[in-house]
Amino acid sequence: KMSELVENCDIVVHLAAAVGVKTILNYPLNSINTNVLGTEIVLKLCNKFKKKVLITSSSEVYGKQTKSHLTETDDVTYGSSTKLRWSYAATKLMDEFTALAYYREKKLPVIIVRLFNTVGPRQAGRYGMVIPTFIKQALRGEPLTVHGDGAQTRTFTHVDEACDCIIKLMETQNAVGEIINIGGVEEISIKYLAERIIKKTNSKSKIKFIPYDQVYTSDFEDILRRVPSTEKLNLIIGFSPKKKLDIILDNIIHYFKNNKAK
Ligand code: UDP
Repeated sequence: KMSELVENCDIVVHLAAAVGVKTILNYPLNSINTNVLGTEIVLKLCNKFKKKVLITSSSEVYGKQTKSHLTETDDVTYGSSTKLRWSYAATKLMDEFTALAYYREKKLPVIIVRLFNTVGPRQAGRYGMVIPTFIKQALRGEPLTVHGDGAQTRTFTHVDEACDCIIKLMETQNAVGEIINIGGVEEISIKYLAERIIKKTNSKSKIKFIPYDQVYTSDFEDILRRVPSTEKLNLIIGFSPKKKLDIILDNIIHYFKNNKAK
């Protein structure tokens, strides 16, 4: 099926992967195979049919790096392989190596993007992602489940802007053979994010702090900070995601208010 699909398309944007920290922890084998073997199949076929391909990697590859404005050439830092969480980062890094090898050895036109937390209407809550989870909890008047002390920070990108970047990158020759961050600008702690969502939804919900070992395992390590540099993205396509978190949250809250069953 993949052979037929790749042969009959113009370009390939490879977005498929194992989704969410919980999936990685509960189904490590399937997750590793999905990320590594799946990407290998895509790259092999793109090479066979000479199709330009964009591989979506992840901000996870930076691992425990907490410096602000992570740049594409920064070192990566992982925990031990006994901690399954890092397998996701390692598989995405392997995807990057494989894609770059196809570019260097086979001259396959590949582009690699590292997506930072990307959100928007229709993002499923079932994989445990923070924004749909918090918004649904707030709208139902349930406690918002903040993991740890909530001091960990993230930046959030609206999916529309991430898509604009991906499309633009596919159109320019300057992106070929490059690794490029796609991420938002506004750094926010998860605790403050919960407070913002409670306020915005006029919810009576309270915040409930849940220790990591009750959510995952006793040796779970979260990523404490994740802020991208989008300088390279700006240089290549002339823009980067700028949407304010307020606008992003309003958009997603509006969606969940009108789609209560989701
Ligand atoms: N998080 C949380 N409560 C939840 C879901 C997530 O406090 O119900 C935290 C999670 O521990 C992480 C951050 O929110 O620190 C972002 O989690 P998400 O799964 O959305 O993305 P990640 O950055 O882990 O890929």
